[in-house]
Amino acid sequence: MDTTENNFRDRIGTMNDEGKRAWVYPKKPQGRLYRYRTVLTWFLLIFLIASPFIHINGNQFMLFNVLGREFNIFGQPFWPQDFYIGVTAMIIGVLFITLFTSAFGRIFCGWICPQTIFMEMVFRKIEYWVEGDRGAQIRLDKQEWNNEKIRKKGFKWFLFFLISFGIANVFLAYLVGSKRLLQYITEGPLENLSTFIALLIFTGVFYFIFSWFREQVCTIACPYGRLQSVLLDKKSVVVAYDHKRGERDLGRSKFKKNEDRQELGKGDCIDCSQCVHVCPTGIDIRNGTQLECINCTACIDACDDMMEKVDLPKGLIGFYSEENIEKEEKMKFNPRMKGFAAILFVLVGILSGMLFLRSDVEATVLRLPGQLYETHENDIISNVYTFKLINKTTGSFEDVHFKLLSHNGSIESVTHERIVVPGKGLAEGTLFIEIPRTLIKNEKNNVEIGIYSGEKLIETTSTNFMGPRSFR
Ligand code: SF4
Ligand code: SF4
Repeated sequence: MDTTENNFRDRIGTMNDEGKRAWVYPKKPQGRLYRYRTVLTWFLLIFLIASPFIHINGNQFMLFNVLGREFNIFGQPFWPQDFYIGVTAMIIGVLFITLFTSAFGRIFCGWICPQTIFMEMVFRKIEYWVEGDRGAQIRLDKQEWNNEKIRKKGFKWFLFFLISFGIANVFLAYLVGSKRLLQYITEGPLENLSTFIALLIFTGVFYFIFSWFREQVCTIACPYGRLQSVLLDKKSVVVAYDHKRGERDLGRSKFKKNEDRQELGKGDCIDCSQCVHVCPTGIDIRNGTQLECINCTACIDACDDMMEKVDLPKGLIGFYSEENIEKEEKMKFNPRMKGFAAILFVLVGILSGMLFLRSDVEATVLRLPGQLYETHENDIISNVYTFKLINKTTGSFEDVHFKLLSHNGSIESVTHERIVVPGKGLAEGTLFIEIPRTLIKNEKNNVEIGIYSGEKLIETTSTNFMGPRSFR
């Protein structure tokens, strides 16, 4: 790939002069940051793979069963009725991403995104293991289809398929539940043909992405990647090349022993192209911040390694904002970053509060449509209602009954003597509320109802109570 031309402005890094795809052969990264990424990857992969197979109080740790309308997050069951939490989480998520990216750049992509983790830390490592490093891979691709190429490519693709199949199974465990998945496996594919076909389709999609589509997910398809140009500004800290130091007056040039580059006006960049060779999206970071950069930091490690070899200070590529480079200052936790971090902290606090303080029971009491009030002996007014109680926990609520909290009246279920709401289940029925006429002030009155299990108040709700118009 030609990196000397100024063509990075008109096309993505993985396109050649004919407009065709230029295959990226990134050099195997190594260095301090890559070691940190590897440790984080292990943690994230274990979390990702183990989450659907861990159960807490009978609940799958993470479950997103859209068709069955069952959702568990950190072992807590959520219902479609908790949809408002999902919407709030999405709004907070968008705000979080916007603020985080403005302050800290696209670090999520290189270090946490599942696409990068699987591509760079799983599939790419297999490729290095089977085919060798960058040079060996280029040679292998150029050579004719002999025994060595068939063996290596065949073995690599076989491993890619197995891992894609494994990922598809984990994906299915998130969607239908790991218990159901294990049941499918023991029953065999013929008993569950449609699920098995869906599994093979997922496998095919993952295989296609990781064996062929690869970095194009980040550079072409991902909407977050496309948003970078509006989210970043001069103060955003990103992986950047210190062009002031790298170029100086005379620009970059090859390394020569025993010369004082600074005195001669030469930049510290020795034009070794290691930062380009190691880049998984095929760009040259010396051209400035580009949409394709996923902030994986592989170029920082590569350049630091070269700087060490030629006895120049490290950090020619590092975490800098444009302002840091212009003012020739180190990256520091500036007031804007502190402000954004504080807002992000509050947003996460709000979401955590909503997740963990939501009630175990959801109660709805609604007046029966089309029914007016009735007047009984002793001037008692009654209204009829339907009720629905949803138990969001795995244990059942026994001996459930209602009490009128706001008025001195009575409330009775006409469909149940004693209500039991099973774990992850619901109870529905009809009830009457009776209130003496003297206590009713308006035609439409708000009444507070307590829902008790035994003596324990498990939820409160409110509803309307209709009275005679003459009492307005
Ligand atoms: S330019 Fe550097 S940080 Fe950006 S994708 Fe390439 S190697 Fe990773
Ligand atoms: S690795 Fe560093 S020294 Fe080598 S070309 Fe890149 S920026 Fe220049």
